[in-house]
Amino acid sequence: MSYIRYLPIYFDLKDKRVLIIGGGAPAEAKLRTLLKTEARLTVVAPYVSDEIAHWRDQARLEHIARDFKDDDLKGITLLYAATDDPVQNAKLAALARTHNIPTNAADQKDACDFITPALVERSPVSIAIGTEGCAPGLARAIKNDLESRLPKHLGAYARSVNALRKSVASKFPSLSDRQHFWAGIFGGTELWQRLRWPVEALTQRVEAELSQEDVQKGGHVSLVGAGPGNPDLLTFCARSALHSADVIIYDRLVSDAVLDIGRREAEYIYVGKTPGKPSIKQEAINEIITQHGLKGRRVVRLKSGDPLVFGRADEEIAALIKAGISYDIVPGITAAAAAAAEIGTSLTRRGRNQAISLLTGHDAKGFADHDWKTLATDGARAAVYMGVGAARFIQGRLLLFGASPKRTITIVENASRPTQKIIKTSLENLPRDIEAYDIKGPAILLIGYRPNHDADHKEEGKGYVSVRPETGS
Ligand code: SAH
Repeated sequence: MSYIRYLPIYFDLKDKRVLIIGGGAPAEAKLRTLLKTEARLTVVAPYVSDEIAHWRDQARLEHIARDFKDDDLKGITLLYAATDDPVQNAKLAALARTHNIPTNAADQKDACDFITPALVERSPVSIAIGTEGCAPGLARAIKNDLESRLPKHLGAYARSVNALRKSVASKFPSLSDRQHFWAGIFGGTELWQRLRWPVEALTQRVEAELSQEDVQKGGHVSLVGAGPGNPDLLTFCARSALHSADVIIYDRLVSDAVLDIGRREAEYIYVGKTPGKPSIKQEAINEIITQHGLKGRRVVRLKSGDPLVFGRADEEIAALIKAGISYDIVPGITAAAAAAAEIGTSLTRRGRNQAISLLTGHDAKGFADHDWKTLATDGARAAVYMGVGAARFIQGRLLLFGASPKRTITIVENASRPTQKIIKTSLENLPRDIEAYDIKGPAILLIGYRPNHDADHKEEGKGYVSVRPETGS
């Protein structure tokens, strides 16, 4: 049998006095957690870090600017000996022990009466993760994983459960009946999914079950931005929607790495449109989305980048509204933002361009027309989506309206993915380089932008070229 050395308990700190000795980084780290409580915090230290001083100025803690004195221990509930000197911390802990004050001594595990876990906090729900100090990195990884899965409104969930307890108790006087009831609400393998539902849906469900009416099974659709392809660039909201989906309806440019995040049991439906080829009609996609929603399923409509940028989201939203299905929108990192990050340059810059156009190379009628006159001016900056096939057209229009043939254009293909290519070219060489570097898309054309690392990577006779995977082996 194995034992745990530390018992996890939730210690009531409301209005209790907690003393922190020390004003540097170790004290700051402890205070970050302590400030989430309603304890009265006193920091004793001759000097404190700027961050601690800031908290003091906000009246979130009291600072006594001098060395520790034995008298400081009077009336203290917990002590954090968190000076920058671990030996000193152990000494302070030994002293506090003679006063029966539970103490945490920073960087002195053996001198500690208690240690502080990694915390996932959705007050009033909190999850403490401890490894008895063996593997703090592992604790952090678990914390990050849980952070990404548990919705922000989990606390609101818990509060609404609390509000419903009375009516559940009056219907089920016996404890075991009540437990059974709540297990029916939260139990099974679909917890993550249920937690994603709006808080009102929980209340409705409980009330419906209590009145023994048939549960109203309205589905929900999330329009989720999948970002440019690298799964690390997904938002927490996108991840948690993917973790809890019954159905994932995805586009051509959603990467496999992102799809891998999705719930295994979900049904995956591909509705990609291939440019220039006969493909599924938007109306058919709207129909698929609404049909699954109407079946009461949790639908994730996954679109590359941001769902509201060149994603025909309005048409899908209109269909959802018409069908009376609830929906939400989870933004994502749009391709232009990812491309700019990869070339290390700012999309807007003071004194250079105060605006940037997000353009599409294609629209419903073919090559998209734009205000070429403005775009041809030196100060104009643009990110062109779906521009590879339209490159010659774009080039022709810009030249016709007087743009310089030397105008820099940076092509970022597969931004953020392992297959990324960055090619610096110019307006006059754009179609040639698209062919020479075999750019087949998805790619963004950044007009008027050059890679910031330009100078380091000049190839003989060419502009900046970076092709992944970099040849390092
Ligand atoms: N909603 C998406 C855009 C969809 S339109 C977004 O916000 O990014 C499809 C176009 O997006 C592609 O033709 C290409 O121009 C661009 N695109 C999508 N993913 C990309 C990537 N990883 N790298 C470069 N361009 C990308």
